[in-house]
Amino acid sequence: MHTSCQERSVSPLSLTMLTLLARCGGCQLWGFIGRLAPTGLAVFAPTSYASSSSHWFQADNSALLFSLLILVLAIGGGLLALLLHHLEAGSFRRLHGQLTLMPIAVAVVRKKDGHLVYGNKPCRQLLGVRKLNDRYLYPDGLCDQMVCDRLRPFAGLKSFKEVNEARFQCNDTLIPLLISGLSIRCQWQSCWLLFIDSSRSNHGEKVKMENEQRIFHQVLNSLSELVYFKDKSGVLIGTNKAFDRFWRGRVDEGIAEELGIGSLSNSAFHTWTTAPDGSSRLLETNCNLLLGDSGEAIGTLSISHDVTDWHEMQEVLKSEIEKREVTEQELAQRNTLLDTILSASRDPIALYNEHGVYVGCNEPFARSLGYTQQSLLGKSSADVLEPDKLALFRQTDQQVIQQGISVKTDDYVILEDGTPIWYEVLKSPYRDPTDGTTGVLMMARDVTERKMAEQQLADAIMELQELSFIDSLTKVANRRSFDEQLRKMWYSHIREKNPLTLILCDIDYFKAFNDNYGHQQGDFALREVAKVLRSVVKRETDEVARYGGEEFAFLLPNTSLDGGEVVATAIHQALAEKGLTHRYSDIATTLTVSLGVATLIPQPSQDYGELVELADVALYKAKAAGRNCTMTMSEKEAG
Ligand code: GH3
Ligand code: MG
Ligand code: MG
Repeated sequence: MHTSCQERSVSPLSLTMLTLLARCGGCQLWGFIGRLAPTGLAVFAPTSYASSSSHWFQADNSALLFSLLILVLAIGGGLLALLLHHLEAGSFRRLHGQLTLMPIAVAVVRKKDGHLVYGNKPCRQLLGVRKLNDRYLYPDGLCDQMVCDRLRPFAGLKSFKEVNEARFQCNDTLIPLLISGLSIRCQWQSCWLLFIDSSRSNHGEKVKMENEQRIFHQVLNSLSELVYFKDKSGVLIGTNKAFDRFWRGRVDEGIAEELGIGSLSNSAFHTWTTAPDGSSRLLETNCNLLLGDSGEAIGTLSISHDVTDWHEMQEVLKSEIEKREVTEQELAQRNTLLDTILSASRDPIALYNEHGVYVGCNEPFARSLGYTQQSLLGKSSADVLEPDKLALFRQTDQQVIQQGISVKTDDYVILEDGTPIWYEVLKSPYRDPTDGTTGVLMMARDVTERKMAEQQLADAIMELQELSFIDSLTKVANRRSFDEQLRKMWYSHIREKNPLTLILCDIDYFKAFNDNYGHQQGDFALREVAKVLRSVVKRETDEVARYGGEEFAFLLPNTSLDGGEVVATAIHQALAEKGLTHRYSDIATTLTVSLGVATLIPQPSQDYGELVELADVALYKAKAAGRNCTMTMSEKEAG
């Protein structure tokens, strides 16, 4: 921006008078400039000089007089020039002295070429002008020509004022310079007297303030909270972006609060509202009083936070706490119930976790392990069980925990007083609702009586079984057992294609024995003969049975006829050695037997009855042959 005034037409005499006035009255000039500089330039006619007029003297043809006149004129002209020069030089010195004292930057620049005639100290400091002897040099980057070009637009003006962007040398930033120009004559030349105002300090402050404001706005707008300001009369004077986004189109709702500036205290309140996306949100708004420098209320600052998530979390937490309290009550009830059951039960009951640590038990259980209830709790099964039993327990525990099934086992313990106890143990999986750990609920039932009864029954059954297969008189296998054994052997020999030998043994003249020694003695003799016969057979698989009356049978698996004959010979020999007296035998003085040996390799087409028949035939032959001997029958002989 610049202002200018038209140069007014002034007569040479007026100019001369004005110049003289300027030279003689520097103070007036300064006052004049002072009035102009800050506001603009007023018309000022530069100092100039006017040519003096001269008078011609007419001389009557006198050359001397003419010459004298010329000389006087020359001397006068020279004196006048000297006077003018002196006046001009004095004028510049006064101007120089006045400008030097000025607190603002002032420069004198020659119009025609932009040469810097003068620059005072503030000017040199502001623009970086250097002074070299009596010469003034522009700073680097600025030259006469550039200044000349810059001032050319004002050439026809007496004064101008403009704001000009210039580089400020201290920090290389562009700052505006207010430059006022006054056209003057200096050292006989037309010059610009330039007043330069940098407004440096004001500008710096302004920039600083602008920066601070910019940062403040950026910070404010980066907040997710909704911020708004009101003046002390409650009128909204500022919001941040978060506020604008949230309350777009309904600002009144956003700034509605019951508390006004009159409350004079900071406060907070909660409001349910609807967010731009339609969701229901809870806002917590804090209102803060803004105070001026002297402590007076100048407005309010309100900050709203979205506390919906926090509120919902609180609600969830509250609900969780309530649930937990209910659970704890239920748990306490259950614990009471469990304690009651544990105490009431005479059967041992225990709860232990997956590591085998007892977490609950009753006295009967603790007693079964030789502990008290209190001393057992907290111990591990590894601490109280024998290694063998522990291994067995662990096996079933693993099944229960890993497969989640109930397992029933038997356990046998001997109490400290030596009493044996049988337990039927039921193990079931359990899960602790409080910490989610798993374990085993073990309930044992004393089944000693039942077990004893079972044992007795088993013994009785065994006895019965023995009775049913053993001949009660001679204690060798009875006929039933023999038949069963023969049947089994027969079929196994069919498969194996091995010889099966049967020896039928009949005591000779035993009727006479009975008749003469009595039946009881006869029984005794039978038992003695059985013992001898039992002692003869060596193989585990060989079987001696009472075939009936005073007849015995030998079943010899995998035995050939020759083998059967060997056994038969051994029978005769053993009986002879025993020497059971039989004075009523027709053939000897001791008990003797007749033996019929038969051997077959059983065929599928045959029946085991055939083997018995063969042996019977052989026995018959032995009787016929005089008794106390052995006769054999093989398949060939049966023919
Ligand atoms: P042999 O030499 O021909 O065989 O004549 P034996 O008298 O032995 O034969 P017999 O069949 O005629 O008689 C068998 C006798 O065995 C009849 C019976 O007195 C006797 N006897 C059979 N069973 C028993 C028994 O269980 N106890 C007793 N004491 N005697 C028995
Ligand atoms: Mg007989
Ligand atoms: Mg007989």
